Amino acid sequence: MGHLTGQTAVITGGGTGIGLAIARRLATDGANCVLMGRNLERLETGAASIPRARAIQCDVTDAASVATAFDAARAGGAVTILVNNAGIASSAPFHRMSEEEFLRIQDVNVTGVFRCTRAVTNDLRAADSGRLINISSIAGLSGGPYISHYCASKHAVIGMTRALAAEWAKTNTTVNAICPGYVRTEMAEGAIRTIIEKTGANRDQAIAELAKSNPQGRLLEVEEVAEIAGWLCHPDSRSVNGQAIALNGGHSM
Ligand code: NDP
Repeated sequence: MGHLTGQTAVITGGGTGIGLAIARRLATDGANCVLMGRNLERLETGAASIPRARAIQCDVTDAASVATAFDAARAGGAVTILVNNAGIASSAPFHRMSEEEFLRIQDVNVTGVFRCTRAVTNDLRAADSGRLINISSIAGLSGGPYISHYCASKHAVIGMTRALAAEWAKTNTTVNAICPGYVRTEMAEGAIRTIIEKTGANRDQAIAELAKSNPQGRLLEVEEVAEIAGWLCHPDSRSVNGQAIALNGGHSM
């Protein structure tokens, strides 16, 4: 029995990368994890590898899909932990960025967080030891070239995190954001492919370019992010509230 035994944790984007690692980590402490995302096959494969985990299809850009998915999640008990991890990224210089692309990123990364959080607000506010964890990014704390839409979305997630932490401070639920630098996942692979395509660099050079943004000169592993999420869910972490926790090897914000 772990300290999360009996608690239901929803992890959006739980079928891959950081989300899957977080589900694995929370299950170790006893949580019943619900993995959400659009690709049901990937979710089911992930859930099959985690004790007590379930897979539920959910598109965070679709309010009806979110409502249905969270109703199904709640059938296993009130959702007392929500990890808003689903996210997308792309890159373009600002003078070539279309409004459509800007809004596509906000719809998943910002409004998606709003929709999922709203779906479990009553559960979280009533929880004995609730946790809302938003996966932002180092791009939520500082700016970078060619990702103005992504930076705007991840800064917005931190704003929402801080506001909700203040608003819910009298409840037993904390609200925090985790802000990683580049993590070795499919999303980072996308950035590596873009560097190769735009600059002619080879794969090692492209990885080295991403690693430069981390003072430790490396990409993070998903388990490092998952560990912080696990720590935030511990009852003894309850005074950590409204924080944007940077994981980037020493880059001061
Ligand atoms: P992945 O691409 O592996 O994960 C993204 C996840 O989001 C997928 O599981 C995907 O599932 C899900 N997703 C995307 N769109 C939707 C949607 N409309 N509805 C529901 N789920 C959706 O990358 P990461 O694991 O790296 O990304 C996880 C989070 O971490 C993101 O928020 C990202 O911005 C953030 N992050 C990542 C960093 C990195 O370097 N990797 C650095 C900092 C932050 P599906 O396709 O099945 O819907």
